Amino acid sequence: MTDLFDLEHIWHPYTSMLNPLPTFKVKRAYGATIELEDGRTLVDGMSSWWCAIHGYNHPELNQAVADQLQNMAHIMFGGLTHEPAIELGKLLLKITPPKLDKIFYADSGSVAVEVALKMAVQYWAALNQPKKTNFITTRSGYHGDTWNAMSVCDPVTGMHQIFGTSLPNRIFVPAPQSRFDGEWNPEDIDELKKQIELHHPTLAALIIEPIVQGAGGMRFYNPEYLRQAKALCEQFNLLLIFDEIATGFGRTGKMFAWEHAQVEPDIMCIGKGLTGGYMTLSATLTTKDVAETISRGEAGVFMHGPTFMANPLACAVALRSTQLLVEQDWQANIQRIEKILAEQLTDLAQLDHVADVRVLGAIGVVELTTDVDMKTLQQQFVERGIWVRPFGKLVYVMPPYVISDDELNYLLTHLTEVVKSMQGADVNVLA
Ligand code: PMP
Repeated sequence: MTDLFDLEHIWHPYTSMLNPLPTFKVKRAYGATIELEDGRTLVDGMSSWWCAIHGYNHPELNQAVADQLQNMAHIMFGGLTHEPAIELGKLLLKITPPKLDKIFYADSGSVAVEVALKMAVQYWAALNQPKKTNFITTRSGYHGDTWNAMSVCDPVTGMHQIFGTSLPNRIFVPAPQSRFDGEWNPEDIDELKKQIELHHPTLAALIIEPIVQGAGGMRFYNPEYLRQAKALCEQFNLLLIFDEIATGFGRTGKMFAWEHAQVEPDIMCIGKGLTGGYMTLSATLTTKDVAETISRGEAGVFMHGPTFMANPLACAVALRSTQLLVEQDWQANIQRIEKILAEQLTDLAQLDHVADVRVLGAIGVVELTTDVDMKTLQQQFVERGIWVRPFGKLVYVMPPYVISDDELNYLLTHLTEVVKSMQGADVNVLA
């Protein structure tokens, strides 16, 4: 099944070249279906890591790319501009926090995070506070794989051990513990308060994934944490950066997760679902104040400008994808998915080897008591006709929004059967 050239020569995400995990060759994908080369079809539970929100091979998104191709696939953004970037920008400003007014288009989520961190440092430099260059963040966060994005990822589950002292030293506080749907424990904010009080003269910003910590543990936390964090940032002169790369475009039941807390950031990163999963594009949005302050600084400009900035093909498909989302009753659709996820997954919490089950919007998470064997589990899922890629202790789904009730029920029935078949404490032993 695994392609030999692929196995020997092509690196896959987080994979060994000595002992690579098997890969399944995809022939095509449409709607919520992935069709393998050998003819098997899988119901997609992953939206290709959060991004294919409208499913695959969507006729209107295909058309948007085809139309844009007739004009130009790419054009440099230095000194030139184009309709897709402008129209997308207008729409993004309508659906993001009202305070945000300036948009920087970048290539990927990680780069959007790099851009956000650079903006924060340039902002304080422009205000003659050159010591404010460091960042504070919570544990269990994930912000991407480039150097500085990596430095604000969880220091244990992230890559700090491997990269050691080559990574800048950030200030970490415990991850929020109060659950999204639970009671707020006022002690939850204590450590953030303490560390900000201690380090604020050197801190440029707090960076955090609002409400849902994604790749760092799929944790959903209490909106009050964000309200109190925002108050601390204001009190101690820190910018607040929200990484909405995973949470954006309806995934948590709100268009963006900040809405759960009604806390507006100074800088916000978006990506993934932005192009409906068609190609890579991200954006870092900020306020008039941050943008103008940076522009008044010594450099006079913001120091970033990637080759493929605001790529027209990507902007055109992002525009159509975002229009498609806002034109429909997307909230009702996410609620439909949320209801089925809750109905099908909640009972798993009673199993001894399941530590927790949680559902928010179109995200369903089953946390086991021990790490899963991804290879074995992945094989089981594929054999049953579903695409679910677990990691660590987590078996989770975030399906494309176009998934039908029948497809979603099929996905979850097979997922729950596999989870139930894991025996006792050793979740890697499949019955
Ligand atoms: N931030 C968050 C919250 C993410 O989930 C991710 C990707 N999983 C990134 C940043 C990095 O995005 P990319 O993989 O597009 O660089």
